[in-house]
Amino acid sequence: MKRMSRILVVDQERRPLMPCTPARGRILLKSRKAAILRRYPLVLILKTPRPDAQVQPLRIKLDPGATTSGIAVVNDTTGEVVWAAEIAHRGLEIRKALGKRRAARRSRRQRKTRYRACRIANRRRPRGWLPPSLRSRVQNLLTWIMRLRRWCPVGTLSQELARFDTQAMQNPTISGLRYQQGSLAGYEMRAYLLEKWQRRCAYCQQPSTKLQVEHLIPRSRGGSDRISNLVLACENCNISKGNRTAEEFGFAHLMAQAKAPLSGAAVMNATRWQLYRELQASGLPVEVGTGGRTSYNRAIRQLPKAHWIDAALVGASTPDHLYLQHVRPWPIAATRWQRRQMCLISEEGFPRSRAKKQSRVKGFRTGDLVQVIVPTGDKAGRYVGRVAVRARGSFNITTKRDMVKDISHRYCRRLQDGDGYTNTKGGCDFLPHS
Ligand SMILES: [Zn+2]
Repeated sequence: MKRMSRILVVDQERRPLMPCTPARGRILLKSRKAAILRRYPLVLILKTPRPDAQVQPLRIKLDPGATTSGIAVVNDTTGEVVWAAEIAHRGLEIRKALGKRRAARRSRRQRKTRYRACRIANRRRPRGWLPPSLRSRVQNLLTWIMRLRRWCPVGTLSQELARFDTQAMQNPTISGLRYQQGSLAGYEMRAYLLEKWQRRCAYCQQPSTKLQVEHLIPRSRGGSDRISNLVLACENCNISKGNRTAEEFGFAHLMAQAKAPLSGAAVMNATRWQLYRELQASGLPVEVGTGGRTSYNRAIRQLPKAHWIDAALVGASTPDHLYLQHVRPWPIAATRWQRRQMCLISEEGFPRSRAKKQSRVKGFRTGDLVQVIVPTGDKAGRYVGRVAVRARGSFNITTKRDMVKDISHRYCRRLQDGDGYTNTKGGCDFLPHS
């Protein structure tokens, strides 16, 4: 038998029950006491209501990553990792698509609306705004938490949260504030500087408890309060530098060093903090852990590094012994629901296809999981995969191994609606044994 995580089960009225073992799931299916509610990931639905079933609250644990995030469902009392998944985000894809759109719009406006007044002045970003590529990472995780809460009894959440909020500092309205104000932004700026300059004076490199925030280009000479103009300095260095710029003081290299962003950290922190705020709004208690705590937990338990294992190790609540040998994480990749663009454009930004047609063809939409049985011909056989619809009614099916082209809709049966996510390996692993 393949190693497999537990299987999620709901009762007839869709109340989440304790996840069962694959063997038990197979018995339930064979004896027709349960049916398949969803294939990817596998969720069973019982054919009877179980209002008095005993459930123990489980904990969903998250390790948000830039390209892949880990999710683990852990039973705190037994230490068992009940279910796990790794979600591949599409941040880079979104960034590329928006870059392409921006270029096309810019070129169009230069051609057609040169005379129009600049509209930048009346654009304002709402509070908590995140770039779409980052936003999608948060949404991916929130979606899966919402789904898991429908399929298994969830009592608490744990999330890995980084140390400081660089997004707040890079937001121009906040970085324009004086750092002495003692505001949250000020504290975050200080935490960032301490991290960036490793709790040492930027000039003499001495560690000190009394570091002062210092301007590379002094304010009196037009220097700004932006984070890229700030370093930490001890009192002696600060006094001896006086009204000189860092360059005049003999530290020209610090200018570039201060400007270099902690870019990877910045991306992750913005996403994580936003996720944290939205998890708190879910009403469940949220435990936060640091990256340091996760590494420590992994080291003392001598576990390998993987996104889903890191997720299971987040936070102080991690059980002393984690049982995870049986777990096979579900590989899940975020896809788009459908193309938002009205037509395809050429490299030069001109339309190169007709306007898109309706997305539903003969009852199918691109992304639906289908089973295909072709009775005769050179494509005869049984396939399971994701469908890509075409207006004329012959579809392409992406299976686990390859793509089968030109399959008539008459041979297709939908197993599961497309929901914006797919198996990274394509197709579907878990068909019932019949
Ligand atoms: Zn110093």
